[in-house]
Amino acid sequence: MHALCRNESCYPMEATEQGEQRFAHTEQGEQRFAHTEQGEQRFAPTDSALSTQHSALSTQHSALSTQHSALSIYLHIPYCEAQCIYCDFNTYVGREGQFAAYVDALCREIAEAPAQLAALAAPSPHLQSTIYNLQSRLVSTIFFGGGTPTVLEAAQLAAILNAVRANYNVAADAEISTEANPGTVTEAMLRELRALGFNRLSMGAQSLDDAMLVTLGRHHNAGEIGEAVQMARAAGFANLSLDFIFGLPGQTQQHWQQDLEGAIALDVPHLSVYSLIVEQGTPLARFIKQGRMAVPDDDAAGAMYDWTRLRLAEAGYGQYEISNWAKSPAYECEHNKAYWRNADWLAFGPGAHGHLAGMRYHHILAPTAYIKRINEGKSTIKQETLDQRGQAGETIMLGLRMLREGVDVARFRDRYGVPPEHFFATELAWLAQNRLIVRDPARIYLTERAVPVANEVFVKFV
Ligand code: SF4
Repeated sequence: MHALCRNESCYPMEATEQGEQRFAHTEQGEQRFAHTEQGEQRFAPTDSALSTQHSALSTQHSALSTQHSALSIYLHIPYCEAQCIYCDFNTYVGREGQFAAYVDALCREIAEAPAQLAALAAPSPHLQSTIYNLQSRLVSTIFFGGGTPTVLEAAQLAAILNAVRANYNVAADAEISTEANPGTVTEAMLRELRALGFNRLSMGAQSLDDAMLVTLGRHHNAGEIGEAVQMARAAGFANLSLDFIFGLPGQTQQHWQQDLEGAIALDVPHLSVYSLIVEQGTPLARFIKQGRMAVPDDDAAGAMYDWTRLRLAEAGYGQYEISNWAKSPAYECEHNKAYWRNADWLAFGPGAHGHLAGMRYHHILAPTAYIKRINEGKSTIKQETLDQRGQAGETIMLGLRMLREGVDVARFRDRYGVPPEHFFATELAWLAQNRLIVRDPARIYLTERAVPVANEVFVKFV
């Protein structure tokens, strides 16, 4: 029940690059969606010729509004210093020798993506016009995720950001975030990043218990988390976030409370707090199976989450999403909000997932193959197909994650030409009757009692 998904910024691995070690996870930026594989289609109900016409009109309308709305950009850096035992994201260790070639390939992909996307098989007119207008749309958020982007040098991150600026219309006030791990940053590097235009830093702390950090395979200790926060502030990062995880191996309620009190004492304006998910194929899953580790059960993890919500509210943090809290709306992560609004974003790098005009796509996973294909001028993109009902379900599921904003009904109608009930009348009525959602004329949002069991609400829209 408390398997709350993390991370918008990368996607779990599905295939192995031969002979290489793969790990997974990113700290923030949650990018994890239910997908339909290419070729596998679910068909939306079209009740009548009238609804077909309506749908065509709404698609045109949506195409026009999409072309003028802001765009987000995600850049995946698939490298880490070491493996964390719970991680299943598309990230690799021991690849320092590949960094330069990867940065070159990524910059090339950034420049060539509109042509690669335009070459996709049979894009719809809506998608074609969206792709045609990509480079003129205002980019409001850019997110470097991974992996650990700060394993690269500042000059390499600068090259990537410059490639984005050279090829897209980046807003002067765009939110530009990078993920980082405390052990991988210095004040000098953070100053360089700030000077380059990075204005939001999201660091993976995960715990403030040194023994737990060792257990998890993290490369930093609790003292270094505090030092990294000080360095970030000194470098000029006011918009600063830390990630924590509860439900860790052997963790008790008391241990978690100590962690969260320590997080509050660090006084950063944004906190992401996730429930541990034991992902198949990770070392953690193996250790649990072997009886070498145990994690708190659902009830214990639920109690930790409930207490987290109460304590963070008391400490002045507003919960704007299931796993995210900010001291004021100014510190909410605009990039992640674009995901939860199911807006358009471009994704660059192996395993990264993008979304344009209702089409989801992803890149091949393995960095070596990715670099090779980019250098050969070949596409690394795989298109995914989701029918309109599937898209609408994702839009509702993601919107419900935002506790205050919820699903914006006007935006939904603008996109699909019909209200949410057109696709999910039974589900929405049942959830409202059971006081798990509120259906206002303007928005749909989770009730207070639904937040701890949000995943049970979300599955109604899969
Ligand atoms: S730092 Fe750890 S948890 Fe984060 S992406 Fe790297 S291996 Fe995964």
